[in-house]
Amino acid sequence: MRVEEWQRWDWYQMKVRIHPCLSVLVCVLFLVLVAGCRPVSPPTPPPTAAPVDDARYATMRERMVIETIQARGIRDERVLEAMRTVPRHLFVPEEERPQAYGDYPLPIGFGQTISQPYIVALMTELLDLKPGDRVLEVGTGSGYQAAVLASIPGVEVYSIEIIPELARSAEERLRELGYKVTCKQGDGYYGWPEYAPFDAIIVTAAPDHIPPPLVEQLAVGGRMVIPVGPPGGYQVLWKLVKQPDGELKAYNYGGVAFVPLTGPGVQQHRLQETATPRPK
Ligand code: SAM
Repeated sequence: MRVEEWQRWDWYQMKVRIHPCLSVLVCVLFLVLVAGCRPVSPPTPPPTAAPVDDARYATMRERMVIETIQARGIRDERVLEAMRTVPRHLFVPEEERPQAYGDYPLPIGFGQTISQPYIVALMTELLDLKPGDRVLEVGTGSGYQAAVLASIPGVEVYSIEIIPELARSAEERLRELGYKVTCKQGDGYYGWPEYAPFDAIIVTAAPDHIPPPLVEQLAVGGRMVIPVGPPGGYQVLWKLVKQPDGELKAYNYGGVAFVPLTGPGVQQHRLQETATPRPK
């Protein structure tokens, strides 16, 4: 074999022998370089279920509006739109969320309930709200009804809740969700004189009589929607319209079942009633 031939052969042998090692080495080096040079990015957040849930709840809400609200005669497009958009599932405890769009009340703690969607829609429609109206709600509860009211264009909403924990959590929830509602904790029996007169008053707990302070704080032409009846029993849902002479024109909307209106206001009235001697 000539010298150049041997060199060629030897070079070829070397190449064959070290080629696998070289490739492994190059690969390792490449990986180290790539890993080392990767830009430092914040850890990817875990995938959240929210968008899926939002879409699922929106479908449930749409069905609720068609099947239980429109089907039962609610026609005011502004009310229907509010019922379509307010996320009821965010106003109930987490364990109740799957039931949020059923047409029934649900527990919200402290022995209280969020009202049934159809009743919320009916009471809102009966208030006959117009842009510029000031509306008072007695019984904030979860804040759901207040959110529906605040979704009616041009309406100013005030809401009172007697249970401090509910008052606090509802105010917080409404703020976080972006609903403009002025809230306070207190006995709604006495209304909210600082902001009176109101064009509309909605009472979402049942007294056994119509609270006189609420009548006083209702503007002439104003509407009050209120369940009235014995605590623990069925009540009648009334729409009262204040006449120019201060009298109330009353319309009966049938039987409902609300939690009772509590607090010193109703109790004092009851005591006065029992203390007043009745003519024989
Ligand atoms: N509107 C509420 C909602 O959308 O969740 C539901 C109201 S729940 C049926 C009745 C609420 O009225 C309860 O939260 C209860 O604590 C409240 N309440 C009872 N008596 C009250 C009073 N005198 N003043 C203010 N709130 C009262």
